[in-house]
Amino acid sequence: ERRYRVTATPLPGAPGHYLATFSDRTEVWRMERMRSDFIANASHELRTPLASVSGFIETLRGPAKDDPKARDRFLGIMQDQADRMARLIDDLLSLSRLEMKPVLRRRQSVDLQALMDRLIGSLAHLAGDNSVEIHCDWHESPRLVAGEEDELFQVFENLIANACKYGSAGGRVDIDARPVEIDGQRSLAVAVRDYGKGIPKEHLPRITERFYRVDADESRLRKGTGLGLAIVKHIVARHRGQLRIESEPGKGSVFTVILPLGQNP
Ligand code: ADP
Repeated sequence: ERRYRVTATPLPGAPGHYLATFSDRTEVWRMERMRSDFIANASHELRTPLASVSGFIETLRGPAKDDPKARDRFLGIMQDQADRMARLIDDLLSLSRLEMKPVLRRRQSVDLQALMDRLIGSLAHLAGDNSVEIHCDWHESPRLVAGEEDELFQVFENLIANACKYGSAGGRVDIDARPVEIDGQRSLAVAVRDYGKGIPKEHLPRITERFYRVDADESRLRKGTGLGLAIVKHIVARHRGQLRIESEPGKGSVFTVILPLGQNP
């Protein structure tokens, strides 16, 4: 669908005649619509846990007032809902910060292997829930990429957390780094592979959109916000890198991030 704006200017010396100019507003209109959809989605996502907290406050004031067991259970649920709102707000802030600064200013050489070791240590609790084993294979790859350390941490944190969340329980996650050359630029390809349920083909093109989820209930159950891959996509683009997603339903998924190499690899 395309949208145009038509402006009519009276033609001098020709009463009743006008010059009509058309301007294509499709792109502006599309951006505006995406923005208002996003605000509507974000409000809805925040409203749901808030409504639940309000509901439980009501119950705690009334029917559950003198029932300590029910009170403990409801307070636990309220805590979970508050945590969920906090995760959403953190992710929304990350996204909005990334959008304010589309170009990466500081570019350091980041040791990706050291970053990955630190990250996997911090994710142990996540893998522990599902008892997922994480294996890393660096082959003989260079380990320094050009970028911003905290942002790259966020990229792999999201991808590895997803692989643990949506991978098969009791399974494994394989991380594999290889040097590649993309458009004459020496780069590092880091693949995060899981052996879970995979992503049906029809969802793949939209999977990195904000709040797009294959199964919203499952995402919520696994403490997802629906914003992780949108954040990943933004950061990879800022690094002038690439994100490739392959998935086979029933077999698993591979998310590959390709990043330009840093200095002194
Ligand atoms: P969420 O917070 O819901 O995990 P993401 O943006 O990280 O949000 O991912 C969006 C959706 O993509 C998820 O809800 C899930 O449906 C799907 N997804 C992401 N990673 C995987 C994966 N490794 N395996 C299967 N599905 C995945």
